[in-house]
Amino acid sequence: MKILVINCGSSSLKFQLIDSETEAVIGKGLCERIGIDGRLNFTPAGKDKIEREVAMPDHNEAIRLVIEALTDAETGVVKTLDEIDAVGHRIVHGGENFTKSVVITDEVIKAIEDVSDLAPLHNPANLIGIRACQKIMPSVPMVAVFDTAFHQTMPEEAYIYGLPIEYYNKYKIRRYGFHGTSHAFVSERVAELAGKPYDQIKSIVCHLGNGASISAVCNGKCIDTSMGLTPLEGLIMGTRSGDVDPSVINFIEQKENLTTEEAMNVLNKKSGVYGLSGDVSSDFRDLEAGYRKGDEGCKRAVDAFTYRVAKYIGSYNVALGGADVIAFTAGVGENSGFVRKLVIDRLGALGITLDEKANEVRGEEKMISTADSKIKVFVVPTNEELAIARDTAALVK
Ligand code: ADP
Repeated sequence: MKILVINCGSSSLKFQLIDSETEAVIGKGLCERIGIDGRLNFTPAGKDKIEREVAMPDHNEAIRLVIEALTDAETGVVKTLDEIDAVGHRIVHGGENFTKSVVITDEVIKAIEDVSDLAPLHNPANLIGIRACQKIMPSVPMVAVFDTAFHQTMPEEAYIYGLPIEYYNKYKIRRYGFHGTSHAFVSERVAELAGKPYDQIKSIVCHLGNGASISAVCNGKCIDTSMGLTPLEGLIMGTRSGDVDPSVINFIEQKENLTTEEAMNVLNKKSGVYGLSGDVSSDFRDLEAGYRKGDEGCKRAVDAFTYRVAKYIGSYNVALGGADVIAFTAGVGENSGFVRKLVIDRLGALGITLDEKANEVRGEEKMISTADSKIKVFVVPTNEELAIARDTAALVK
């Protein structure tokens, strides 16, 4: 089957056409600046990237242009729209309504709308993507794959906040967790690499990208994760603060004369390693270069980031009653041996030792701990699009 995977944001839309039998990418691309001016790039497998500036007043037009690119007589990858068997949509927040991927129906759309107040920037954009596809491909089955679904197996003690219980009862305020598709994909793959059945292995998955989160997965089920009601909680990220004392928000509001919205914007967009570095960069390539040159801000940012990751690994090792494996994934986790070493060097108490040579790996599956390390450590590239395509194919078969 040919599965179109759509990841729709408020002004951008990423897409991939995947052959579900061979799992090969047939073509992929990105629409940007939707509703502003419009830019589209498309890469047919094995060919050069094609870039166009083209008016994209709304998501309907963006989807139409995606289909046009996929079916173009010269540079396209399918002859007609009929070759697309199904569409898989990435949906950020499923609340407690969705514990796994589902075929999209009117009820599913309503349920996604119902939890939109939990992800006001993301879910409405995801819904626009679904509706635009329905308009252009009314007879093609579609599947919703949720970022939160994998984490729905967390026990109450892990997802509940220490707040009056009425807020959970009335508003469902709790930890949900995100990047679930990646945590599921990587935890399953690292079990294969470690040579153990997925339902008999305890793993810690470190998804370290611009957004970053960690999860503890016990016998195929997530038992804890670092992101919360929203993706702001947990690790120090590119520009997000991660865990802070909640009183900080009110304190900043008063000292800097900010509204709550402005203070939240600081925590989401101006904090993390970017803010800690003194606005040098949120990109770990820049931070590593600065660190090596002795830049104080870059060192502070990287040290705080790697300390926080190690601290979470320690606590999830306890939550799991002893982990068997640790996996590093996403932009930083897959590519930065520098960050991985700084994290792993902090884990001596767990009997983990790094194979420095193996740790030079970039973007490939590899064990990076020594043979006698008490917990095995792997680099496992994530592939959220493939995970979405797999779920979609399985549900529409
Ligand atoms: P997201 O999907 O959250 O936007 P990614 O998982 O694509 O993020 O990760 C992007 C980040 O990965 C970049 O901001 C950068 O910090 C980091 N990154 C990418 N390549 C490298 C590299 N070679 N060395 C260090 N960091 C890298």
